[in-house]
Amino acid sequence: MEKKDLLTKGKAKELYRTSDDSKLIMDFTDDTSAFDGKKIEQLAGKGTVNNRFNNFIMKYLDSKGIACHLLDELSDRESLVLSLDMFPIECVVRNYAAGSICKRLGLEEGMKFENPIFEFFYKDDDLGDPMINDNHIVAFGWANREDIKILEGLTLEINKHLLELFDSADLILVDFKLEFGKNNNKIFLGDEFTPDGCRVWDKETKEKLDKDRFRLGLGDVVKSYQEIAYRIGINLNKP
Ligand code: ADP
Ligand code: UDP
Repeated sequence: MEKKDLLTKGKAKELYRTSDDSKLIMDFTDDTSAFDGKKIEQLAGKGTVNNRFNNFIMKYLDSKGIACHLLDELSDRESLVLSLDMFPIECVVRNYAAGSICKRLGLEEGMKFENPIFEFFYKDDDLGDPMINDNHIVAFGWANREDIKILEGLTLEINKHLLELFDSADLILVDFKLEFGKNNNKIFLGDEFTPDGCRVWDKETKEKLDKDRFRLGLGDVVKSYQEIAYRIGINLNKP
C-alpha cells in the first residue's frame, strides 16, 4: 500500500491518503494535547503505545461484532484504516463522575452512576467542544434520528464490553470518548480508543493511569499507558 500525501493533521494523529481511495494510513504521533489544544507536548513512545493499544481494542471489539475502521497494522506507529465520512460529533459515556460533568453539575469526582450516562459533544476546539443534544444534531444536518440511535446504542454496547475487559484487569473504566463515521452508508467506529481518550483508574488505589496524568502534570504518562496495556494483556512489543 503506497503512502501518499497528508490528508489531515490532527492534535495526536496524521492521516495520509493511499493508492486506494477507500483506505487511509493513520499515523499515531507522540504529540499530546489537552485543554482543546492549549497544552501541547511530545511524549516519547506514546505514538507506538497508542497504535498498538488501539489495534488491540478494535480487534477485541470486532470480535464482539462491532464494525471498526481498522484494516491492518503497518508499523510501530502506523495502521491502515477504512476512510470514513466522520460525524463531527464526540460520543462520550460515563460510568463514574470525572472531568467536565463534575464542573457542569457540581459532582464529586469518583461518584458511581446508577447507569452509564451517554452524552454528545460538538467536535470544535475553538468552541471548547460544547455539549449538544439530538435536536442540535438533526437541526444542523449532521445525522438523522436513526443514526443517532445507532451511535448511542453502539457506544453503550462498547462500554459494556470494555467495562468487562478493564474490570478483569482490576481497572476502573471511568469514561471515554468515541468518534464514528460512515462508509457506503454503514456506520463504523473510527478514530481511536486509547488512554488519550478515556479515564482509567486502578481499582484498589484509584490512581489515575490515563491522560489526566498529562492534564494534571502528574508525570509518567507513557509509563502509565504501558501499565494499562500490560494489565489488559496487550503485547506492546509485537503486533
Ligand atoms: P483532533 O481531530 O482531535 O485534533 P486527531 O489527531 O485525533 O485529533 O485527528 C484525527 C482526525 O482524523 C480526527 O479529525 C478524526 O475525526 C479523523 N478520523 C479518524 N478516523 C478516521 C477515518 N477512518 N476516516 C477519516 N477520518 C478519520
Ligand atoms: N475526551 C476526549 N477528547 C475530547 C474531550 C473528551 O478524548 O476532546 C475524553 C476524555 O479523555 C474523557 C471523556 O472524553 O475520557 C470525557 O471528557 P470530559 O467531558 O470530562 O472532558 P475533559 O474535562 O476531559 O476535557
